[in-house]
Amino acid sequence: MLLKGKKGLIFGVANEHSLAWHIAQQVHAQGAELLLSVASERFLRKVGPLAERVNAGPPVICDVSCDGDIKRAFEEIRARMPEVDFIVHAIATAKRTDLQGRFLDTSRDGFSLAHDVSTFSFVAISREAENMLRPGASLLTLTYLGAVRAVPSYNVMGVAKASLEASVRYMANDFGPAGVRVNAISAGPVKTLSASVVKGFKDKVDIQQVAAPLRRNVTGEDVGKAGLFLLSDMASGVTGEILYVDCGYNIMADFITRED
Ligand code: NAP
Repeated sequence: MLLKGKKGLIFGVANEHSLAWHIAQQVHAQGAELLLSVASERFLRKVGPLAERVNAGPPVICDVSCDGDIKRAFEEIRARMPEVDFIVHAIATAKRTDLQGRFLDTSRDGFSLAHDVSTFSFVAISREAENMLRPGASLLTLTYLGAVRAVPSYNVMGVAKASLEASVRYMANDFGPAGVRVNAISAGPVKTLSASVVKGFKDKVDIQQVAAPLRRNVTGEDVGKAGLFLLSDMASGVTGEILYVDCGYNIMADFITRED
């Protein structure tokens, strides 16, 4: 029971394939008390039953692109859970048209949307939660290799993830004196609602299977277990880190050998 007596907020469960849901299951199994948040009422029907499975009560609605909505959501959160030990931010979005073709063709509003929802929201919800964080609290977000490599079609989302990874380091420095840790998991490709929007997503999964050192795809469970580690006291000395959970794919450079 690594998280017995710990309370946490999880943003970004859309369905049972969501990486946030995999993390929720792992931390629930280790004794954590949870509150889930969804973007709009539209998702309550799907996420409500999942929330029940982890004893989380009704999900809190919060559209992270709106400051007023974040404020209102946190009033509800504070009333239901005045103090928290961890927050999981598993939120990202971009225009479908920006997740194909050339990065150069990204529109101004598409660039803005990707950065606002996928990156700034981590800063915004963490700041809003600041006075609720218990000493030793852990904040976690999700990123992808496209932050540090040019991944075809990932485009503007890769640039937003680069900004998210830099935000993790600055936030770790700001929160550190209060004993609060901030980290990210850089997950390999897992089939979820938002991942499927990236053009050629299936190719990324196929390549990982043959090219990653572990010769398999990463699973939601792999990501969930790494999340549990970073949110628990097992990672008490880890902050400002980007932890790759991708079966080792990121260390590779040259995939084709003579033997191939
Ligand atoms: P997912 O299940 O589709 O989750 C994405 C979540 O973002 C959804 O719950 C979605 O909520 C939420 N969201 C989007 N706009 C929002 C807004 N304005 N306000 C509040 N929530 C909003 O996909 P996922 O793959 O698990 O994604 C979770 C995180 O993992 C993302 O940051 C993603 O970039 C990252 N990641 C994923 C992979 C992968 O291969 N799957 C790899 C590396 C990193 P609604 O559905 O309610 O709009």
